[in-house]
Amino acid sequence: MAKRFVRGGALLASAEASLNWDWGVVIDGSLLAAVGPNDELRAAHPDAEVIDASGLLLIPGFVNAHMHSYGLLAHGIPVGAAPAGFYEFLSDFWWPRVEDRLDHAMIAAAFRLACGMMIRAGFTSFCDVLEAPNAAPDALEVEREVLEETGLRGILSIEASERLGTKLGEKAVSENAEFAEKHAGDQLICGMMCIHTSFTCSEGFVKRAKEIADELKCGIQLHLSESQYEPELSLKRYGLRPVEWYDQLGFWDSSVLASQGVALDPEEIEILAARGVRLAHMPLSNCEVGGGIAPVPEMIATGLRPGLGTDGYINDPFEVMRGAFLIHKGALRDPRVMPAKTVFAMATSWGAEAIGISAAGKLAPGMLADLIGIDLSFITPLTEGNVFDQVILYRSGNDVRLSIVNGALLMKDGELLTVDMEQARRAAAAQARRLWNMR
Ligand SMILES: [Zn+2]
Repeated sequence: MAKRFVRGGALLASAEASLNWDWGVVIDGSLLAAVGPNDELRAAHPDAEVIDASGLLLIPGFVNAHMHSYGLLAHGIPVGAAPAGFYEFLSDFWWPRVEDRLDHAMIAAAFRLACGMMIRAGFTSFCDVLEAPNAAPDALEVEREVLEETGLRGILSIEASERLGTKLGEKAVSENAEFAEKHAGDQLICGMMCIHTSFTCSEGFVKRAKEIADELKCGIQLHLSESQYEPELSLKRYGLRPVEWYDQLGFWDSSVLASQGVALDPEEIEILAARGVRLAHMPLSNCEVGGGIAPVPEMIATGLRPGLGTDGYINDPFEVMRGAFLIHKGALRDPRVMPAKTVFAMATSWGAEAIGISAAGKLAPGMLADLIGIDLSFITPLTEGNVFDQVILYRSGNDVRLSIVNGALLMKDGELLTVDMEQARRAAAAQARRLWNMR
C-alpha cells in the first residue's frame, strides 16, 4: 500500500499529549510512519497520497473494551414490566428470550450492523462477547467473515458457562480455543477465552478454561460482579466474595479482562490491582440493569486502568464517555472526579491496553494506524485547556467524519465505505423479527 498523508486541521495524539494545530499523520501500510506539522510531513513524504482532513480534529480511534454485537437485536423490545432486579433481568428476559434463541443468521446480521454503527460513531477496535450457547460451533467464524469485510479491528469470543449444562459450556470453551489458536498473531482479528461468572461456572470449569487460555496465551475475559447478586451468592455458597473466590483458584493475573466490576469492595479492588487484572467499565448498561455504580475512581486510585465499553447497549463512544464523566461526579458529589482527560484515556489507550492491543490508542510513529477525524467546528474556541471536555461533551458519533483502521479507510466525509448501512439495517431488522416471532 502506498503511503498516505492525512492532512489534519488539528491533532490530539493521546490523553497525555498537547493539542497541535495544522498537524497530520503519515501512514505506511498498517502503521503510523510519522506524526507532526503538515508542512514538514508533506516535505518529507512528497509522494504520499493526500487525504484532506483539514476541517477535522485527528484523534486515536476509540476502543470498545466490552461489546455484545448481538445485543442490538434486543434494543428497545418491550418487556411488559421492568425486571425486578439484575438476576430477574437475566433469568426472565435476557437468557430465555434472547441468548438461547440466537442462531447464525441472527448473529451475522446483528454483527454487520453493529460494526457499521461502531465505525460510524468512532470506534476502531472492540472486544466482543457472543452470548449464544446454542450457536456453537462455528459462530465465531460467522462473525469473523463479517468482521473481515468491515475492516474493524476485533477480538472475538463466545461466552462459556454451565448454565445449560457443562457439555454446552465445554463446547464454547473449545470454540474459543480453536478460534484463538487459528488466529493467533493476527493483528486485526483474533480470539480470547471467555467465561461467564462465578454463579454460572464451577471451580473446575473456571480452572480448565484458564489453563487452556494460559496455554494458548490468548487471554481470558469474564463478567465480574455486575450487581450485588454475585457477591451475595458467592458469600452464601463459598464464604468468599467473588474476587476472593477467583483468587484462591489462582485465576487473577494480567491476562484476565474483567468487565463490569460494579459490586466490588475495597479489598477486592486491592486484589485486582495487585494481580494486574485488566478491567472494562460500562457506565450506561450498569444503570440499565440497576446494577449500581462501579467504584471506578477508587479503581484508578489503586493504579488500575479500566477501559470503557458499551456492553452492546448504546453503541456510541461519546455517550459512554459522557456516562463515565458524569455518573461518578453525581454519585460522589464531587465535580473533580473523573476529569475529561481521564475519561478520554479510558476510551483510547487504557481501553487498548485492556483488550490487549497496546499498539493502538495513541497516535505515534510505529503505532497502529487506527485513527478518526471529528468535526472541528466547535462553538467555543478549542483550546489546550478545554479540548478533552469539548470532545467528550459537545461531540457525538455523528460528528465523526473519517475513520482509518490498520491503515485502511473505513469512512470518509461521513460516508461508510465498507458497510452498506441501509442493507445492514434491513437484514438486522428481519432477523430481529425472527428472534421476536413478529412479522
Ligand atoms: Zn457484558
